[in-house]
Amino acid sequence: MIKESTLEPANAVDRTVVDAGDYYMEVVKAGQTVRILDLEGNQAADTLFYSEADPGERYSAIDTIREQGNVYLTAGSVLMSNECNPMLEIIADTCGRHDTLGGACATESNTVRYDLDKRCMHACRDSWMLAVAENEEFGMGKRDITHNINFFMNVPITEDGGLTFEDGISAPGKYVEMKALMDVIVLISNCPQLNNPCNAYNPTPVEVLIWD
Ligand SMILES: [Zn+2]
Repeated sequence: MIKESTLEPANAVDRTVVDAGDYYMEVVKAGQTVRILDLEGNQAADTLFYSEADPGERYSAIDTIREQGNVYLTAGSVLMSNECNPMLEIIADTCGRHDTLGGACATESNTVRYDLDKRCMHACRDSWMLAVAENEEFGMGKRDITHNINFFMNVPITEDGGLTFEDGISAPGKYVEMKALMDVIVLISNCPQLNNPCNAYNPTPVEVLIWD
């Protein structure tokens, strides 16, 4: 569902451009709003959310899908934790649909899906692993890297239930905006994938904006 934001970028308390292949790991407090802006279009922002109070409580695709009765995420979706608590609500979305089924790219899946010589290519899972290693204060490790949301990624379900990775439906300037319902750690890998159309074979930066 397309829904425009009422917030002005000029009033944001924090703005960070995240290059493709980099990660973003910051706390967003309950009541704050976070926007992920697809600066150049057709990018994939592979995102995980954790409770700041207890990172063992984290975004759960299964609980979110079951509670809303729909596999796509868009305005109105409430992102649920593995303890079935609401973590964030999508309050604006100019892309219209986001994936939470396709998973994130990894060097291992690149070799299985594409070619053995793709193993050396940088992948989202590496960015997350680097993030938890470089941000020890959150006390997280490899086991905390779980199932994610692919903002701006287009993974339509076929009539007989199949999954397909398709060319993106996002475009330059499209965004998704969420209000935090608890204090959350936001962990984004701005996808460096070069082998599938999730980012039009051309990884580009995204911007993260936060409002009080
Ligand atoms: Zn990726």
